[in-house]
Amino acid sequence: MIPLLYTPSGINFINPKLGWWNDDALIRHHASMVPYGLINDNMNFRKDYKIPEYHFLLGDSGGYQNLTLDKGFSPSKVIRWQEANCDAGMILDFPPYPVLNRGRTADGVTTEKLEYCLERTLYNAQIAMDQRENPKFQLYGVIHGTEWEQLEHWYKCLTKDYQFDGYAMAPKPTRNPIQVARYALFALTHFDEPIHFFLCSSRDVIPVMIWMTKYNRLVTFDNSNYSCAALNYYNHAFWRDIRKFYRISDTKPTTLKKLPCNCPPCTWINEHGGPSIERTNLEFHNYGALHYLYWYLEEIETYQRLLDDEDMFFNMYVSLTGPKRLRLLRFSKRE
Ligand SMILES: [Zn+2]
Repeated sequence: MIPLLYTPSGINFINPKLGWWNDDALIRHHASMVPYGLINDNMNFRKDYKIPEYHFLLGDSGGYQNLTLDKGFSPSKVIRWQEANCDAGMILDFPPYPVLNRGRTADGVTTEKLEYCLERTLYNAQIAMDQRENPKFQLYGVIHGTEWEQLEHWYKCLTKDYQFDGYAMAPKPTRNPIQVARYALFALTHFDEPIHFFLCSSRDVIPVMIWMTKYNRLVTFDNSNYSCAALNYYNHAFWRDIRKFYRISDTKPTTLKKLPCNCPPCTWINEHGGPSIERTNLEFHNYGALHYLYWYLEEIETYQRLLDDEDMFFNMYVSLTGPKRLRLLRFSKRE
C-alpha cells in the first residue's frame, strides 16, 4: 500500500516541544504542512526548530491568506522559503472563492472571476518555475474550480507549458464527502502525480481520502486544528462517545479528577494537575489539540488497515458517520 501522509497544518512555533517531530514529543508523526507568511517566513525554520530530515514538510504558499488578508506575498520569496525548508510545496495561487465565507463554499465563482484568478496563478507559477534551484524540492500546481469543466480548463492551462511534480486541490465544501469524491475522481482520471487536498480532514471525508490510496496514489490532506489551538484557543472535542459531553476547553468548572482518556497528552495533563489546571493557559490548549490529533491519527490508521477488507471499511464508515453515507458508497462503487 502507498503510505498516506497526513499533514497536521501549522506547526506551533510557540513551544516546539509540543510538536510531533522531536524524540521527546508526546505524539509522533512523520509529516506536517506549514503555511508561508502568517507565522512563518523564517528562512531557517527547519533548522531552528530541529525538524529532522526524514520529516515530510509540505510548504503551503499562503495563497489563501494572501487573498483573505491582502498580504501581497511575492512568488519569488515563497519559492526561496519553500526550497530552503520544505520537501514539497504549492505555487502561490489565487483562489477564486469568495473571501466573505472564508472559502468554505464556492458560491459566486463566475467565469470572469475564475479567468482572472487563473491568469494571476499562471503568472506566479511561471515565476516559481523559472526560479527553481533545488532539484530535491517538489513543486505542486494548484487546481481550482467548482464544476468539472472549470477544473479541466484550469488544469489544461496550468500544464500547457509546465510539468509539475504534484498537484493540490481545494474541494468545496471541504466537509461534503460527495463533493470531495468528485474532486478525487477528477484527480484520479487526470494525473498520476502526488495529490494534496486542502483540509478534507473532517470525519466524513477522511475515508474518501483513504479510499483514494487504493488507486496507487500518494495522497496528503491536512488538519488545521493544531494551529487554531495555538492561535485561537479552539475547542477540542473528544472523539468517540466522550466528545458529546466533555470539551477540554469548556470554561465551566469540572469535578473530574482525571481526564477520561489515556492518550499520551491526556496522561501528561493528568500527571500535571489534571482537568482543573488553568484552562486559559495557552499550553494547555496545545495538549488538547494533541489529544485530538492522537485520536484523529488512530482513526486514520484504522481505516488504512480496513482498506484490505472493503466490507469492513464501509461498515466502519457507516457506523461512525451515519446511514446518510450510503449515498456516497453507491457513488464510489459506481466508478
Ligand atoms: Zn486524550
